[in-house]
Amino acid sequence: MLNNNEMSCKELVELVTDYFEGTLPPAERERFEAHLGTCSGCTNYLQQMRQTIQVLGKLTEETIAPQTRDELLQVFKNWKKAG
Ligand SMILES: [Zn+2]
Repeated sequence: MLNNNEMSCKELVELVTDYFEGTLPPAERERFEAHLGTCSGCTNYLQQMRQTIQVLGKLTEETIAPQTRDELLQVFKNWKKAG
């Protein structure tokens, strides 16, 4: 179960650019990485983002368009149902 201190998938996706830019405050970064340790969906998402950055050199608004994020979050939900 999520408690107040635990990051949700939605929150993680919203913070992913800050994470890659290194602008995430240490406390947030800790929560971010704690979530990654327990969520294969977000780990996967992060790997995809990393590959995108390697290809494009940086994150753009296009790579994390709201529609894309919604699709990803939907995928996460389905994984959780399956698990
Ligand atoms: Zn997650």
